[in-house]
Amino acid sequence: NKSANGKKKYTIGTDTSFPPFEYKKDSKYTGIDIELLEAIGKLEGFEVEFKPMDFGGLIPALQSGQLDGVIAGASITEERKKSVDFSDPYYESGLVALVNKGNSTIKTVKDLEGKRLVVKNGTAGAKFAEDNLKGKATIRVFEDSASTLKAVENNQADAAFEDYPVIAYTIKVNPNLNVKIGTEKLTNNEYGFMVKKGENKELLEKFNKGLKTLKENGEYQKIVDKYTK
Ligand code: GLN
Repeated sequence: NKSANGKKKYTIGTDTSFPPFEYKKDSKYTGIDIELLEAIGKLEGFEVEFKPMDFGGLIPALQSGQLDGVIAGASITEERKKSVDFSDPYYESGLVALVNKGNSTIKTVKDLEGKRLVVKNGTAGAKFAEDNLKGKATIRVFEDSASTLKAVENNQADAAFEDYPVIAYTIKVNPNLNVKIGTEKLTNNEYGFMVKKGENKELLEKFNKGLKTLKENGEYQKIVDKYTK
């Protein structure tokens, strides 16, 4: 695919709403992932067209060739490496459980036993729930972060798994939300840009090269600070 100015144009999948990495603001798509990839495109001479999708649909869409790449706060995991190639890591993250503001009993994974947990389809959090709480907690799977958050706010669930930077940002910008972070970080992981395994090697190389430049020239930190300070 070429854009009007003859530059290569990549179709990039991203999550529907995963602030501060990707979300809609004033009807425009924005966030750390969006700005990073656009800045890398400028440096490396390509353009991007973003296709927001439920997270669970992103790797399948990559596999079927609908997408050239994915940037969606996706954690680098060994399991995913069987079907995708990851860029160098671009952000450190990890999982926490969020609970209703009125809850003072859920502080560890063990405390979730016998409780109602909600997770987001296809995420590392869903996998963590499956590995650690299957048969011990009631686990419901939703398609997006907003739905898991709402379930906890409305006491339809006791807890939801979410990435720490996402829920921390969400609470910071909406202090009236009826949720808080209940646990310590349950996992540590890093986000990576993804392409289909064995394909789009040149896009992966451009990403890594551009990321390195943005880190060296301070632009990476500027983008991150803009959304987290
Ligand atoms: N980092 C988590 C994962 O990769 C969640 C990503 C997301 O919800 N966009 O599974």
